[in-house]
Amino acid sequence: RATELEDRAQFDALTNLPNRAAFIDQLRRGIGRSHRKAMPLAVLFIDLDRFKSVNDTLGHDAGDDVLRQVGERLQRNLRIGDTPARWGGDEFVVCLEDFGEMSNAGAAAQKLLLVLSERYEVMNSEVFATPSIGIALCPDSGDDAERLVKAAEIAMHEARKRGGGRFQYYSNALNSHLEQREELEVGLRHALVRDEFVLHYQPRIDVTTGRLIGLEALLRWQHPRFGLLQPDRFVPILESSGLIHSAGEWVLATATRQLAVWQRQFEMPDLSIAINVSPQQLAQSRIIDTVAAALDNTQLDPGCVELEIGDGNLSRRRDAEVDALRSLRRLGVRLSLDKFGTRDISFESLERGYVDSFVLDQSLIADVETNDSHQRIVRAAIAMAQGMDIEVAAEGVETLTQLEFLRSCNCDLAQGFLISRPMQSEKVSSILRSEIAGTRLLTRGMP
Ligand code: C2E
Ligand code: MG
Repeated sequence: RATELEDRAQFDALTNLPNRAAFIDQLRRGIGRSHRKAMPLAVLFIDLDRFKSVNDTLGHDAGDDVLRQVGERLQRNLRIGDTPARWGGDEFVVCLEDFGEMSNAGAAAQKLLLVLSERYEVMNSEVFATPSIGIALCPDSGDDAERLVKAAEIAMHEARKRGGGRFQYYSNALNSHLEQREELEVGLRHALVRDEFVLHYQPRIDVTTGRLIGLEALLRWQHPRFGLLQPDRFVPILESSGLIHSAGEWVLATATRQLAVWQRQFEMPDLSIAINVSPQQLAQSRIIDTVAAALDNTQLDPGCVELEIGDGNLSRRRDAEVDALRSLRRLGVRLSLDKFGTRDISFESLERGYVDSFVLDQSLIADVETNDSHQRIVRAAIAMAQGMDIEVAAEGVETLTQLEFLRSCNCDLAQGFLISRPMQSEKVSSILRSEIAGTRLLTRGMP
């Protein structure tokens, strides 16, 4: 009885392999040996790509069967002295000891890749489950058991990110990237109270008259150590950590307050502001209160506020998001689809009339001079938009030729380095001052 209990504490019931606790135990002893004999040791972290779909399509029994077979294949294809174990779910780990050359760890991983990629026969079906394998070497990647497994797992994620069905060595570069991300995430938690967010504004002009009609608010983070960071570095972290809601609230409040100041100061009641909104924000009703409060506080005409909805497929939006869009419409703000041309858009979403404008993505504009198919897409998209009373803005306009092409297609608005880079609010004030004095931002190439 006692041994049965011991077994249960050490072995995984499904695969009969050592479990996580037993593996860590054996790994610790292995690390001790490797130190004493100055011999290399490696941890492999193995995860089955798309294993979840086996469970989803064939059921859990089939999934269990695959895992059992994976366990058998591991045991059959390792040398005596190497320890395979089940880490959890569809994750397996292996400790390789005494394998001579460092590159032999890669050779072992390659062999496992091959045998685990072979088809599995499960309940009269054929199943394929290619693995991704991460390798961490002792002592290079860490010298305690937990750290080694963690490093191997990080490398496994990298292997999967590169398409799966391959192995990847852990490297410090991988780690420093992750550490930086962690540091950024911790920093972002304090960025709001420490007042480290800044908005820059980029002008949008009317393509036919060259008049400045509005600005897009673009978020920046003044990081205490890394300097001024662009949104690609931190907006994805805001989104995945849930911090996007409070940051987005700050952006909405700040941008609308700033617009109200400019409208009054320069007597430009029609000046508009475009504000980027992440799809995550639409999943919570909080955004509706935020927008309502911003309108209330500033007494802006809601028609001057345009919310640019970022990535995501409008056709597959959940009910909560559709409700949010509807409520925002009722507040009178304009809704715009950002990065048009890089995403799927359903006719249904256009038909429902949620959308007042498109922002043509800069990837379409960048090579519009030389890329025939982009020319045709831009022309067709603008024609379609006109037929539906949807306004079109083009982003990333860098050359006069691009601007002229857009004018020939009857594009409404343009934004890009040709006209102006995003800038701080003080600089915008001085541009608005010249604008009302009659000096256009862009005079070259204007009719
Ligand atoms: P976006 O909405 O497509 O913003 C336009 C981006 O293109 C800006 O980058 C802008 O600096 C850049 N750009 C403008 N003109 C040109 C040009 O002529 N050439 C080139 N190469 N680039 C140009 P930025 O400021 O780095 O913003 C990147 C993205 O981050 C934005 O793309 C937007 O999706 C997101 N983002 C920015 N601010 C916010 C925010 O407050 N909230 C959320 N959720 N996302 C934001
Ligand atoms: Mg935008």
